[in-house]
Amino acid sequence: MKLHLASGNAHKAEEFRALVAGSGLPVAIVSAREAGGMPPVAEDTGTFAGNARQKAQALRARLPAGSWVVADDSGLCVAALGGAPGVESAYFAGPAGDGAANLAKLVRELAGVPDERRAGHFVCVLLLAGPDGQEFIFEGRCDGRLRHEPRGGAGFGYDPLFVPEGEGLTFAELGEAVKNRLSHRARAWEKLAEWLRAATG
Ligand code: IMP
Repeated sequence: MKLHLASGNAHKAEEFRALVAGSGLPVAIVSAREAGGMPPVAEDTGTFAGNARQKAQALRARLPAGSWVVADDSGLCVAALGGAPGVESAYFAGPAGDGAANLAKLVRELAGVPDERRAGHFVCVLLLAGPDGQEFIFEGRCDGRLRHEPRGGAGFGYDPLFVPEGEGLTFAELGEAVKNRLSHRARAWEKLAEWLRAATG
């Protein structure tokens, strides 16, 4: 089965490929880039699920009938910032969607916030859209805390600041294999994979 990924983020595509391989399902992830590019999406619904739906519909409109699409909308919620950057995670520092600028802004906004108030969690909403307009939504969450300074070179986005619960290192230090066991995306994918197993017998 081909699953078209409605995302222009190459890091997400890489993570999905590893997650799919680990699940043993006969699924091939086709990135939006391979399918001609991810169409621009407003991402203005104010919810992860709403934005995921926009992405899925935008890509599906470009694909042959009968295609299955999965869209990922995700973000980091920090209690000390009232839940920000949240659904705005990709555009925290401005409309350019610059990951390094977003990370630098998060470091600035959390300056002076003591360790006991540096809790945060990642959310990932996966929306699976079927050929007949069916929609299935799966959500994953990963709790952790935010370091004061970025550390590590793996991953993307806020990974260099985020230490998942039970670990002493950031996602960017832990690397892909560990991240793909613990992450919000891995947890949402597990639920989707379970659904696919049941649906395909
Ligand atoms: P989206 O592509 O519109 O869903 O935006 C997701 C944004 O949330 C990314 O640009 C990152 O800033 C952040 N984000 C989501 N998942 C992750 C992750 O696994 N690691 C680090 N940052 C993430």
